[in-house]
Amino acid sequence: MITEVIFTGTELLLGQILNTNAQYLQQALASHGFDLYHQVTVGDNLERCAEAIRQAAARAEVIFIGGGLGPTEDDVSREALSLALGLPLVQDKAALAIVRRFYLARNIPMPGANLKQALIPAGGTALDNPIGTAPGIVLEHSGKTFFLLPGPPAEFNKMLDEQVIPYLQRRFPDQLATIHSRVLKICGLGESVLAERLGELLNSSSPTVAPCAKEGEIHLRITAKAAGKEAAVQVIDEMERAVRQRLQGYVFGVDEETLPAVVGRLLLQGGRQVSLLEAFTGGQLAHMFVSDPTAAQTFSGGLVLPGNQPGLLPSGLFQGAIPPPDGDTKEVAAQMAAAARRYFGSGIGVATAGTVLPVEYSRHQYPVGIAVDFEGNCQVQEMLFWGNRSQAARRAAGAALVLLWQILRLKP
Ligand code: ATP
Ligand code: MG
Repeated sequence: MITEVIFTGTELLLGQILNTNAQYLQQALASHGFDLYHQVTVGDNLERCAEAIRQAAARAEVIFIGGGLGPTEDDVSREALSLALGLPLVQDKAALAIVRRFYLARNIPMPGANLKQALIPAGGTALDNPIGTAPGIVLEHSGKTFFLLPGPPAEFNKMLDEQVIPYLQRRFPDQLATIHSRVLKICGLGESVLAERLGELLNSSSPTVAPCAKEGEIHLRITAKAAGKEAAVQVIDEMERAVRQRLQGYVFGVDEETLPAVVGRLLLQGGRQVSLLEAFTGGQLAHMFVSDPTAAQTFSGGLVLPGNQPGLLPSGLFQGAIPPPDGDTKEVAAQMAAAARRYFGSGIGVATAGTVLPVEYSRHQYPVGIAVDFEGNCQVQEMLFWGNRSQAARRAAGAALVLLWQILRLKP
């Protein structure tokens, strides 16, 4: 079942409001198995709106039109539907009753302009709107189904859930399917390497497999369409197994799971505690840790330095001499990770080291040392981060968390 959505409203085109109705409708369509191939936004203009309706009717079976059902001049959706299909607008009794009820309930006279809201293209039916003045409209014409829905989100959502979806379920009982998806979360792997490893799996059409790059992570969405949820889940399970086989050691979580939560769980399972010394990430890493409730048991504490200035710490924390601020970032990071462990008495120390100002040779490029000292065994990397300071700090903190996860996942 192919659907198309038209949103009307010049304020949407000008970016004055966010099209939240779109997201609500898209999610509803997806979860009921409708295909949405095109979504159009058009200003409050009769001709352009009618043209959008004609185009939609030529390529979709169910057409939704959102907004423009108000009483004012710039509310043109009814007129546009009537123009596009060559149907006269007629006053509808049920629609008039809905508009009247709104004013009766508030004990105020109905303005004449609102009579317009009782007009419906001939053959259409009013949809009740218990929380607003504008009735919605459903119209069957030449094998196509048209819905007109009011723009205010509360009215739009309620009408969609309570009337439009049930109408479609009755009207197309055999067509409805379930679209179900699962997101596999991946870290420590670039997009191109991921694509290489997944190979032909990325071309699968049932289920579909689509990567989406996030900061420091890739989210791989597996989507299946089937008659029911169980069948969809089975198809997804099979694909997940195939994906995991090719991405061993890189999938850290599923759906809502976050890297801090997964790391927290591993720390908790191993009865381990972690402490931090952040000379580059300015507390961002600590922020990630405390965002998960396991922090109460697994996070010993952290120190934040304004760049590589180990001299600000008590010298006793370092074995041997205090590392110089301009020392090799890997070396400094390793010593800081060990210092964090000593300071907080935790089994694991994590440190980020690097100059806070961009280095001379390349203006927005930061070499950062990232170290994880796991009970005396230190793994350390130097990585380059681009962007502005706060982006680089956030990315470096994410990379430190990835390194910690990679170490923890191999520990019993
Ligand atoms: P009204 O009777 O209020 O005029 P309407 O059906 O004519 O309703 P619009 O005039 O298009 O709808 O929009 C009314 C209000 O609803 C807008 O001012 C806006 O705040 C909100 N709105 C409209 N469309 C959307 C949308 N797609 N997403 C989010 N909000 C919207
Ligand atoms: Mg309006």
